[in-house]
Amino acid sequence: MLRIEDLSFWEKSAYFEKIDFLIVGSGIVGMSTALFLRKKYTDANIVIIERGYLPTGASSKNAGFTCFGSPTELYDDLKNMKEKEVWETFSNRYNGLKCLFELIPQKAIDYVSCKSWDLIESGEKNEIDPEFIDYINKKAKEITELDEVYFEDQNAANRFGFQNIQTSYCNHLEGAINTGMLIQEMHKKTVEANIRVVFGVEALSMSSNYQEVELQTNQGLIKSTNCIIATNGFAKQWIEDDIQPARAQVLVTNEIENLKVNGTFHFQKGYYYFRNIGNRILLGGGRNLDFKGETTESFETTPQIQQKLEELMRSTIIPNQEFEIEYSWSGIMGVGDVKSPILKMLNKNTAIGVRLGGMGVALGSQVGKSLANYF
Ligand SMILES: Cc1cc2nc3c(=O)[nH]c(=O)nc-3n(C[C@H](O)[C@H](O)[C@H](O)COP(=O)(O)OP(=O)(O)OC[C@H]3O[C@@H](n4cnc5c(N)ncnc54)[C@H](O)[C@@H]3O)c2cc1C
Repeated sequence: MLRIEDLSFWEKSAYFEKIDFLIVGSGIVGMSTALFLRKKYTDANIVIIERGYLPTGASSKNAGFTCFGSPTELYDDLKNMKEKEVWETFSNRYNGLKCLFELIPQKAIDYVSCKSWDLIESGEKNEIDPEFIDYINKKAKEITELDEVYFEDQNAANRFGFQNIQTSYCNHLEGAINTGMLIQEMHKKTVEANIRVVFGVEALSMSSNYQEVELQTNQGLIKSTNCIIATNGFAKQWIEDDIQPARAQVLVTNEIENLKVNGTFHFQKGYYYFRNIGNRILLGGGRNLDFKGETTESFETTPQIQQKLEELMRSTIIPNQEFEIEYSWSGIMGVGDVKSPILKMLNKNTAIGVRLGGMGVALGSQVGKSLANYF
């Protein structure tokens, strides 16, 4: 493999010299940062390096929910977090989605305003009462300016063909996108904006002398005036803050005839989530079965979690239908004890934006915008 120092004059000058902004990671955050920097600095030399031959974290592997808060999550958060933080988180996600759609038109990523349902299983203690729904609707209206974001939908299980569900709560503002189209569309926009994206280059270490950042990579040294780290679940090597990798496993079925499921759904406090993709089902979750084992950077699936997902498909989601699993994979998120991202300058010319948790579709573009605004 040719190292950067052995490249031609043309290659070096086109890709690796006089860089104003060097971005590490080509997920939603890395690419959004590049696009917002371009809006601000029309002539800047912007380069993104990505260690994989595709983005290799969470942005091309997620479920594609455009979600910002379900009643059971809000209920739990209001018990465990300060009220102000709960609604700030809600607002950041809701407005983050607006930011995403300003950057990438909804049509280009197959956005559907399909709603979401928070399912309460039979036998589960239902902590959500009408008073709570009234309360979160009042608070949600202050942010969305819309009435009745949430309502109880007792008939959903029947309509969609689920079993073992006592009731559900619908959020009529949530929807879904095509994750593959989002990552492709972002890449297309970065190339159109004259931003160079170089795949197969992994950042190993960094030093900064306040005028310049020197990034040692697996392909050699790259220098840049400024640097932005957008490596999410793989950020531990750069900061001492509270951030851990968190693996999330997913599967997708074959095409199922007469599938009734249409929308996005979550249950067991969001530990499981599913949606239809045409007439297939995507189902993910189960990290709660093995938190320790799933705190890893390794892209694998495990029999324990995959079997649980298949079991839920049979018992709850499509109980009377034959299906096969055609795809299964995992992605790595960045999580911590709190739900907000880490967003800060590491030194005069290096910023970091990581720990997007399970909400990076909603938060990623806004984090990119904030990172660009540091410079
Ligand atoms: C299975 C799954 C389902 C999810 N579902 C949803 C959902 O429905 N809705 C939602 O809002 N969010 C969801 N998420 C979360 C969301 O996908 C993430 O929060 C978001 O993609 C994070 O974007 P990012 O750009 O910060 O990180 P990433 O997409 O992880 O990008 C980081 C990039 O940095 C690269 N990188 C890492 N280290 C280096 C290095 N040293 N040198 C060079 N490159 C490096 C990686 O290869 C990677 O491409 C889900 C996540 C997973 C895994």
